[in-house]
Amino acid sequence: MSERRTALVTGSSRGIGRAIALALGSEDFNVVVNYHANKNAADEVAGQIDHAHVVPADVADAADRQRLVDETIAAFGPIHLLVNNAGIAPRVRADLLEADEDEFDRVLAANLKGPYFLSQLVANHMIGAGVRGQMVNIGSLSAYTASVNRGEYCVAKAGVAMMTKLFAARLAEHDINVYEIRPGIIATDMTGPVKEKYDKLIHETDLQPIKRWGRPEDIASTVMAIANGLLPYSTGEVINVDGGFHLRRL
Ligand code: NAP
Repeated sequence: MSERRTALVTGSSRGIGRAIALALGSEDFNVVVNYHANKNAADEVAGQIDHAHVVPADVADAADRQRLVDETIAAFGPIHLLVNNAGIAPRVRADLLEADEDEFDRVLAANLKGPYFLSQLVANHMIGAGVRGQMVNIGSLSAYTASVNRGEYCVAKAGVAMMTKLFAARLAEHDINVYEIRPGIIATDMTGPVKEKYDKLIHETDLQPIKRWGRPEDIASTVMAIANGLLPYSTGEVINVDGGFHLRRL
């Protein structure tokens, strides 16, 4: 086992998670690269990191979550940083009055139940191992912005916001700080299908003061500020990384 700190980043084969894994890997972390379906993408990320270990696991599945934690510890020892990043959009953007229960269950399982119980597992591990750790939840502006054609996603992200407060309140006595990073509109596969719509909103309307798409690296550098201990007296904090989208203006 090495002396380097160990980070577990869910959903790090692509998009925001990939950028987070690469940033951690470039700064002295052992990194567990987790994916659900895209093994090649995960291998490509791990190939760029000196101390990486790839673990396929569905965060929505309890047995997979346990195996993810067990394999991380087996590979590198105690976990210092958990980044709950894995997430999905609904398959179809369906109107609130028509959306079905199956899709609600699928999105809630991956985006809320998964990180909630993974946090529970990792918290108990950190406490048992005496690790002064950190957790970062990748939320969304959807936590407070109503999109009536993807209500399940909004509800899940609102849940992630409360989950951050809950774990922060519970874990402070164990020297474990918990943060929510709340991305705005970031260029990844997830937003690919709505690229034209968001291009117009960003560049041709007053949607956000900083008129460019967010990049996965914008989120990764924020994770690094946390990982490098630059926010030691903050916990349960929301960090908006959204080009100023959240600002109400008159
Ligand atoms: P993405 O490009 O679609 O990548 C999603 C990642 O999550 C992939 O690595 C995927 O693995 C993994 N994943 C999906 N379901 C999983 C599961 N059940 N178990 C384990 N891994 C799973 O998405 P992204 O845009 O980077 O989004 C990352 C996070 O940021 C999500 O929580 C998303 O809600 C949030 N977010 C994104 C935006 C945005 O504008 N893009 C804005 C706000 C918040 P595979 O490669 O194996 O499929």
